[in-house]
Formats: sequence, C-alpha cells, structure tokens
Amino acid sequence: MQLEAKVREEIFEAIQSFQTIIIHRHQRPDPDAIGSQLGLKSFIKELYPEKNVLAAGTMSEGLTWMGQMDSVELADYQNALAIVLDTANQPRIDGEWYQEASKLIKIDHHLIVDSYGDWQWVDESASSCAEVLCQMIFDQFPQLNLTKEVAELFYAGIVGDTGRFQFSNTRSETFEVVSRLMHYGIDLAAINQRFNELTKEELDFMAFVMGRIVLHPAGVASVLLNQSDFTDFGVKEEASNQITHIPGRIKGVLSWVIFIQQAGHNGNYRARIRSKGPSINEVAMHFDGGGHAMASGAKVADLADRQALIQELIQTNRDYLAQSN
Ligand code: AMP
Repeated sequence: MQLEAKVREEIFEAIQSFQTIIIHRHQRPDPDAIGSQLGLKSFIKELYPEKNVLAAGTMSEGLTWMGQMDSVELADYQNALAIVLDTANQPRIDGEWYQEASKLIKIDHHLIVDSYGDWQWVDESASSCAEVLCQMIFDQFPQLNLTKEVAELFYAGIVGDTGRFQFSNTRSETFEVVSRLMHYGIDLAAINQRFNELTKEELDFMAFVMGRIVLHPAGVASVLLNQSDFTDFGVKEEASNQITHIPGRIKGVLSWVIFIQQAGHNGNYRARIRSKGPSINEVAMHFDGGGHAMASGAKVADLADRQALIQELIQTNRDYLAQSN
C-alpha cells in the first residue's frame, strides 16, 4: 500500500488537536501491541504533557515489565480521539467504546482485512507496528530525540514481532529504525534478557510441549494443548508464546499449528499457525482467523475442524513444494 505523507500529517494534526487520546490495541496483547501502545502514549505525553493520554485494554501478566494499562471509562471517549494499533479487524480490538470517540485512527502492519477508522496508516511490509510508529515519528519529526523509555518500548515491540530479528518480516528498514533507537540509550541486553528468561515452570512446560509434537505429511507439525496441560504445569496460556516457534525448529517442517483449548469453551480451540515458507494466512481465514503470511491465528471448534485445518496446511505445503521444484 502506498503511504501518503498527507495522511501521516493529518494523523499528527489530529493528535495535536485532541485533548483526550485513548490508545487501543488487540486482545491477548503481545510485546508489539503493548510496546506500540505504551511507547506511543509516552511519546505523546512527552510532546504534549497537558494532554490526557490513556492506554485501554487488559494487560497481559507476563508483560507488566513494560508498564500498565489505564482505567478507562465511557465518559473519557466524549470529544476524544481513539487510536487503534496493531489490530487488523475490529472484533479483535481490546477495550470497549472505541467507536464512541469523535475520531478514530488505525495504525497497523497486518494485511488489511477490515478498513476502519477516519484515518488509516497500514504498512503491510513492516516487521511490527512499533516499526511503523517509529518511521511515522522519524519522518514527521526528523529533529526530535526520543526518550530512552519510548525508545525501549518501541524496541521491545520490534524484538517481539521479529523473534529477535530472526523472522522473515525483518527488513533493512527494521535495522535502520533500531539503529536510530540505539542512539537514545536503550539497554539492548536487558530487554533481550526479558524475552529470554523463563520460570522453571515455563521451562518444564516447554519440555512437555516438545514431547507433544505430531508430524504430518508434507512438512506439517501440530501440537494439541488442553487447559489441564497449563494448570498441571502452573503456567498461563501466555506461556504458549514461548513455545510457538519450537515445531519449526525440526528439519523438514514447513508449517505448523498449536491448538490451544480455550477456558470455558469446551471443545473450542485457538489455533496458532506458523510457517517457514508457504503463506498460511489464507488457511487461517478459512477458520475464522487471519494474520500474516508466516504467522496467523484462527479458531476451531472440534476434532473435525482441527483435522480439516491440518489437511489444508498439508495441501498448502504440497502446492508450495510443487512450485519450488
Ligand atoms: P498469535 O498466534 O495469536 O500470535 O497470532 C499470530 C498473528 O495472527 C498475529 O499477527 C495476530 O494478529 C493474527 N491473529 C491471531 N488470531 C487471529 C484471529 N482470530 N483473527 C485474525 N487474526 C488473528
């Protein structure tokens, strides 16, 4: 998508003109969602200390080291600007009432599945929403220095979504942005350590997951996790963030899915789908989901659905292998 400077300017004019700005992002936040949200909040507060800037949504327990959410009331949305970050479609927006705001801005890096908001700034080729925000800020305010806090939040977002610069969404612009962030004194090693560290329970859970990997034809792997697996190890569903990449480490595996049973929805599973080559977001879309070419999410109801999703991954891999030969 061609991004126009005019739209960027209008977005920053809107930020300048509203006294209350409420920043949303997607449910089940990951480091990019939180880093983008809290990084933008701190950035706006630095620029306009008199403004009321609020971060909306439910915090993820494992990410409290990045900061906290604000308590947001319906009344806050009166004459307010809402900004939704890192969220491709409206049902995934965390927090109510964003539609009550006077104006709405969408800033994202996912493939466009839902065009919403008065202004949209979507760079589908960016590694992360944090990278998109950094580029917007650097282009709009070339002389401005970021605080260390803002730079660290954006850096954490980029690290999260690129898997520490290992995923194929990492591009030269990612390093240009990070290079600039490093000028603001970020503590790279400390942030990377945050991503690396596991509790003993999480490590034991990881070992358990390794034993649960099932290999299917055409380089597909799957893992099925029930709620009891999480409770048995005393870990939260968030612990699945630490294991999503593991099946892909197996030589020959091209794409994989982790099915996670949802609490209170007996038989309902969240599917976390990943790839090392074939685009899997279309498969996700067939199962009430979406996302990126190499990392998507979906929802499946039962065993038949799970098998159907695996079957679609097998076919996608076969097509991919046939084209590459
Ligand atoms: P996850 O496995 O939850 O980390 O999701 C991987 C990617 O897929 C993220 O970029 C999500 O935004 C996207 N995604 C996950 N679940 C869904 C869904 N139900 N609908 C649309 N996109 C999703």
